[in-house]
Amino acid sequence: MPPDDSYTSPPHTSQPPRPASGITRAADLYRALGVPARAADALAPQDCAEFPLKAPRAWVARIRPGDAADPLLRQVLPVAAESAQTPGFGADAVGDLAAGAGNGILHKYRHRVLLMVTGACAIHCRYCFRRHFPYRGHTLAGRLDAAVDYIAARPDIDEVILSGGDPLTLANRKLFDLCERLEAVAHVARIRIHTRLPVADPARINAEWLAWSRRRPKPYLMVLHINHPAELDCDAGRAVAAMRHWTLLNQAVLLKGVNDDADTLVRLSRRCFEVGVLPYYLHLLDRVRGAAHFEVDEAAARRLMREVAARLPGYLVPKLARETAGAAAKDLIAY
Ligand SMILES: *Cc1c(COP(=O)(O)O)cnc(C)c1O
Ligand code: SF4
Repeated sequence: MPPDDSYTSPPHTSQPPRPASGITRAADLYRALGVPARAADALAPQDCAEFPLKAPRAWVARIRPGDAADPLLRQVLPVAAESAQTPGFGADAVGDLAAGAGNGILHKYRHRVLLMVTGACAIHCRYCFRRHFPYRGHTLAGRLDAAVDYIAARPDIDEVILSGGDPLTLANRKLFDLCERLEAVAHVARIRIHTRLPVADPARINAEWLAWSRRRPKPYLMVLHINHPAELDCDAGRAVAAMRHWTLLNQAVLLKGVNDDADTLVRLSRRCFEVGVLPYYLHLLDRVRGAAHFEVDEAAARRLMREVAARLPGYLVPKLARETAGAAAKDLIAY
């Protein structure tokens, strides 16, 4: 993904720019995990230039050294299977390019709009449905006024979703400004932030962010992205729990070799609840090029959901969903 305006800030900001604190080369990741070079070669013959490795140190610290099957490692490590061409797996899996008005806004569904605040993320998830997305020219960067005008001119929009990329890669001051402008639109009743950062890099939930988040005049929701209970270690759990004054939801992606077993999904829901998060969606993989090896087929997903639903209270069972280009809402899958 292009660097965009990640972790940078205007000169007046109260928060200093964050250093690039993550690992961005496979060799460094292997070294950090003590993987021998030969075993490493078999996994990833080369760094992936198109969608490079990116993993914050806090994330890497949760990977079990020496375990090639570690679910957190699998989510960030480029592997040879990514270069496989699989029919049906394309560059724009969910029709975002068609839905975009070209102004950083995705207005696919009624009453809510999604703002592509930035193309940057703190972590690069190998299965990401936007791994090929041409963010440059499609984000909100430089078009904030136009986006606010678009929303202000449409009274039926009652919810604004900040997404990306990851909105929390923005410096606090920038994000505060954006949110405060949206709050000022009378018909905007709720603001939602889709982010993986509290889990990927818990230190991002800093004191300034927390203080601001407690003072909001309108309801906010934070929709996290957590796929495996091991992502919510003590630090991440604390960062998430510190946001309990907002409505906290989780969307996960069903990923082969990461969370495609009922035990893991049950533990994920329970662990989320411990830190104040309710499950929202469990997404079937979007069929994006390079991610085919993560796919769990629909029949297997339904079987899993039946077992999960049999073991959890209803409020801890996520909705099994699939994104269908052109549909009026996420497609919910019965099981
Ligand atoms: C997923 C999505 C939303 C939000 O859908 P909900 O079902 O309300 O979570 C909104 N806009 C776009 C473009 C989306 O992809
Ligand atoms: S954090 Fe979200 S947008 Fe960023 S790479 Fe991961 S799945 Fe994609």
